[in-house]
Amino acid sequence: MAKTKIGILGAGYAGLLALKVLQSKAKDVEITLIDRNSYHNEATDYHEVAAGSVNADKITYQISDVVKPGITNFIQATVTKIDKEAKTVEIEGHEPMTFDYLIVALGFRSETFGIKGATEFALPMDDVESSEAVYKHFIAKLEDYRTSKNPDNLKVLIAGAGFTGMELIGAMAENKAKYAKIAGVTPDDIELTCIDAAPSLLPMFPSDLADYAVKRLAKRGAKVFTSRGINEVKDGVVVAKNMETNEIIEFSAGTIIWTTGVSGSDVIANSGIEARRNRVMVTSQLKDPENDKVYIIGDVAAVMDAESGRPYPTTAQIALVMGHVAAMNIIADMNGQEGEDFKYVSQGTVCSLGNTDAIGVLGNGTKVKGYVASALKKIIMNKSLWETGGVKEMLAKGRFDLYH
Ligand code: FAD
Repeated sequence: MAKTKIGILGAGYAGLLALKVLQSKAKDVEITLIDRNSYHNEATDYHEVAAGSVNADKITYQISDVVKPGITNFIQATVTKIDKEAKTVEIEGHEPMTFDYLIVALGFRSETFGIKGATEFALPMDDVESSEAVYKHFIAKLEDYRTSKNPDNLKVLIAGAGFTGMELIGAMAENKAKYAKIAGVTPDDIELTCIDAAPSLLPMFPSDLADYAVKRLAKRGAKVFTSRGINEVKDGVVVAKNMETNEIIEFSAGTIIWTTGVSGSDVIANSGIEARRNRVMVTSQLKDPENDKVYIIGDVAAVMDAESGRPYPTTAQIALVMGHVAAMNIIADMNGQEGEDFKYVSQGTVCSLGNTDAIGVLGNGTKVKGYVASALKKIIMNKSLWETGGVKEMLAKGRFDLYH
């Protein structure tokens, strides 16, 4: 009997969790996993690479480590287009892949919302390479300061004070002494600023925790401004409007980093799949509404949370659960059984403010901050490594020094 062909596009949180379940539970299947990289990366840690707190190696591991030969064939290549009707996937430099079931888990990319100059003059932080590029750019500016004495070389402007922007400025604030040494200045000379159009920060946290975050960052000399809507980015300048006073303000900085938000993979639009910002509104079983053999999960999916009446946010925690549900539903379908609905019960959300500081809310609503919250963040990071890569990757790449 011919084996059932299952394609998995993307070896991020969602794709690898689905792979792990299918490899251990599905019978008579032939899996093809495709990712543009040879490695899986922990996208939740990009800010640490961009800030120079860790090397890229710390947040990546080889996909081949988790692929079971004989069941799964891993192809390192870029997916360009999905044809749901023909059941094929176009891949750069390879013959098209055919499938009986498909899991689309291609993740996110930085979104500029069409703001003039953002693509040209701001640095994205949406994969390992771009995160490394942010750090290299800033270091080059600091080194150049030694001779040029250009004050803008010491300034970083982070556009967008959401989860990503706040985690990034927290990590950078912690490294000010290191940056200062490279430029030959004092830590106080390094200027870190984060701006956002929203009137308040981190809406997923109670306001007292968001206030704590801003105060802790200010103590380390990092400034966060709300109600600053970005109109345009120029070479070394961000032009913003103070939404309260309508005053136009220019922030000059040698390093401008773009963290205003994300969209799903462009492969969704290129494949003509109906979506909003490349996020497909999937069924409660995570299927494409037009093709019940195609599952769309992680940051390329939008699924309604019946309780809030809004789609779930895009997070790694949710992507992992989606990976599990999609794989179990394929196995159920192959066995002629009814699949399960996606449900997510939050275990908690933690936003880091550097290596030893954070804010968080546990699943039961308990608020945490400081060392306790940062230790919790590291436990969550270790758990996700264990879930996708197993004990080996968790031991190799995990964070076990919880208080430093
Ligand atoms: P991804 O992790 O983006 O994986 C997608 C995979 O697809 C990648 O391996 C990529 O190489 C591959 N790929 C993409 N396009 C192609 C293509 N065309 N061809 C082949 N392969 C392709 N979430 C949390 O839950 N908690 C946090 O604390 C948290 N912190 C974050 C901090 C930062 C700085 C950032 C940027 C994000 C954070 N997130 C956090 C969000 C989280 O990282 C994402 O929700 C999560 O990565 C989505 O998982 P995914 O599997 O859908 O996609």
